[in-house]
Parts: sequence; structure tokens; C-alpha cells
Amino acid sequence: MNAYLTIDDAPSATLDEKLDTLVARGVPAVFFCEGRRLDDHEALAARAVEAGYHLGNHTYSHPHASDLSVAEFEAEVARTEERIDAVYERAGVSRPAKLFRFPFGDDGGERAPAFQRVLREGGFVGPAATASGDESDSRDWSWTLDAEDWTTDDRTELRARFDAATRAATGDEEVVLFHDAGNDVALFSAFVAWLDDSAFALADPLELVR
Ligand SMILES: [Zn+2]
Repeated sequence: MNAYLTIDDAPSATLDEKLDTLVARGVPAVFFCEGRRLDDHEALAARAVEAGYHLGNHTYSHPHASDLSVAEFEAEVARTEERIDAVYERAGVSRPAKLFRFPFGDDGGERAPAFQRVLREGGFVGPAATASGDESDSRDWSWTLDAEDWTTDDRTELRARFDAATRAATGDEEVVLFHDAGNDVALFSAFVAWLDDSAFALADPLELVR
């Protein structure tokens, strides 16, 4: 049973200390970054890349994609791509893959096929792409294990949700959703420890596209 940790709404001001936890435990992860947050915390994102972590695109301003035109969606993606490329350049690391996650899991509703085309033409790869190699595969990263951490700051409650989500997990490969912004260092570190001490083997999310 593999689990792949994906961390949304990055980078926050406390990413540095959160990285310390991940690095100390050797837990791999992808950070899905908002372009606007990269404007504020580029150095922290660069440290993550230097430490072997991957950055994905989580739009510039975290909108609901179903509120966007195709042109607006393209602009949100492109603006964030510039920032991500700049971080890899700053870190002196070549970017291994272009990954994207929709804010709120909102794939654009009726414009979803057009948005997938934007991602496909932009060279983005989704976790399903390797599964079938089909051109119609989704190019965005969804998730399968979710403790809904953004709706609670209570450690006991989060632990109960994590345990319930873990028990309900039936796949051999679980993509775990967690967040940087919105969680303090203590809660973040606790969650990483629970995951690391669980029955899952934690693997690099990029294995899903390779
Ligand atoms: Zn988000």
C-alpha cells in the first residue's frame, strides 16, 4: 500500500519549519503552489526544490475554475508557470514534470474538457497518464485520501478524520491531500508523523507519472 503526499496552498510563511519535518522523516511530497504565494515566499519554495521536493501549479490566485473563461484559466496557469520555472532556476534544479491541481477540486464544470486541453497542450501530466497512456487521461492531480484538514484546527479531530480516511482507503495507491497554508507547524508535523507511522509506504508522487 503506497501513499503519495501532496500539499496544497504552498508556499506559506512557515514552509521552512514544515520542510524540516518532512526532511527529517524522509517523507517525499509535491507542493501545489499558488503563484501569488510564490511571489511572497520564493526562497522557501527554492529550498524545497533544493531538498528534492517537487512543485506543482495550483493557479495564481486560487479561483474556482468554473468561474473562469478559458482565457482566464490559461492566464492563471501561465502566470504560475513563470513563477515555478523561476524557483527551479533559482534552485539550480531542472524541473522533472509539470503537475497541476485545481483549487477546491473544481475542474471547470462545463469547460472541463477545454481546461484539460489547456493542460494537455501545456505538457502537464496527471497521475493517471501512466496508467493507460491514453491521450484522454486527466492531466490534473486529484486525490483519494482526504482528512479535510482545512475545516479543522483541532488535533484530536484531525487525528480521528485521518484514521477514518485511512480505514476507508481501499486502493494500492493513495494520493493524500494536505495543506501548507491554514495549518500551523505543530499540526502539520503531527499529520506527517501519523502518515509516516501508518501502514502506508510513503513514495514520491512523481512515481505515478514515470
Ligand atoms: Zn487549494
